[in-house]
Amino acid sequence: MKNIIDELYNENTLNDDGLLQLIDCTNTDYLFSRAEKQRKKYYGNKVYIRGLIEISNHCKNNCFYCGIRRDNTSLTRYRLTKEDILTCADEGYSLGFRTFVLQGGEDLHYSDEEICSIVYEIKENHPDCAVTLSIGEKPKESYRMYKNAGADRYLLRHETADIMHYSKLHPESMSLDTRKECLWNLKELGYQVGSGFMVGSPYQTKECLIKDLRFLEELQPDMIGIGPFLPHCDTPFKNESAGSIDRCLNLIAILRLMFPYALIPSTTALASISPTGRERGILAGANVVMPNLSPENVRSLYSLYNGKLSTGSEAAQAKEELSSLMKSIGYEVVTDIGNVKK
Ligand code: SAH
Repeated sequence: MKNIIDELYNENTLNDDGLLQLIDCTNTDYLFSRAEKQRKKYYGNKVYIRGLIEISNHCKNNCFYCGIRRDNTSLTRYRLTKEDILTCADEGYSLGFRTFVLQGGEDLHYSDEEICSIVYEIKENHPDCAVTLSIGEKPKESYRMYKNAGADRYLLRHETADIMHYSKLHPESMSLDTRKECLWNLKELGYQVGSGFMVGSPYQTKECLIKDLRFLEELQPDMIGIGPFLPHCDTPFKNESAGSIDRCLNLIAILRLMFPYALIPSTTALASISPTGRERGILAGANVVMPNLSPENVRSLYSLYNGKLSTGSEAAQAKEELSSLMKSIGYEVVTDIGNVKK
């Protein structure tokens, strides 16, 4: 095992057989220590923070895994107004956040012009900040407008790079090709692009994961977000089991070794599946955390899966708590804008 970990550390790539072994590796000390070393070369012991603003839980899509899917009639829907969003950003700014991530379901209520005016105003109020959008699949022209309005980054997980698997997670109206095309368009427009996938989603095989890694090698994203699949009781996948935290941590380490420059969050899903998930993600090679800046009264409604954390160190107000947690494992939470070091 040590040989293949060294090979991945030195070459940043590995054959399928080696990757398959690492996905299942149980003695992870060496894997994680190499991943930490790799991350330290580019980022030292810095952990970047991003303020997550969940702008709307309305969604036109019907992804089988997702709690805010269109057909979930049990959910109370909300959407933030422009003023709400600007207030969240102002509050985040005074707490020390320098990146705001606006994430939401695919909510057709917001026109492109409205998204642009929100982005534009955040950038005008806080020129030293980055704005990241994560609002799903849009025409290239819309992405262009957001970029011109000042958006810097875009997160759009590909979810799975296996076409058969994609069709088991999504209704027929959605396609992997469209998802990929969006990612290529975002790259072409000059965004810093984030992609990623769920670990342990229903019907996922290890071969699917190899395809995910190969697709990311092609895309060369700036950010890579992964987290365990967690079931939601009002979705078709309510009886499916959750993804494995260990497999997720192994994949974070593999991603760090393949993409030394990448910004890799220790995600909310990881923190939700285990009380120590957040720290373990960092110790496996992640270097970003994304606490929640949404108004408190809507936080529980952005319910992608059951058990999603929205308090404690998930909440942006608890930045000090997060900082001391990171300090206790040898890391320093920093407030700089944290662009990718490619
Ligand atoms: N509408 C946006 C944002 C989606 S929510 C978009 O399409 O990009 C952000 C991410 O949460 C998704 O990309 C998905 O990977 C993850 N997610 C959704 N449901 C989940 C679940 N049940 N378990 C774990 N992660 C989930």
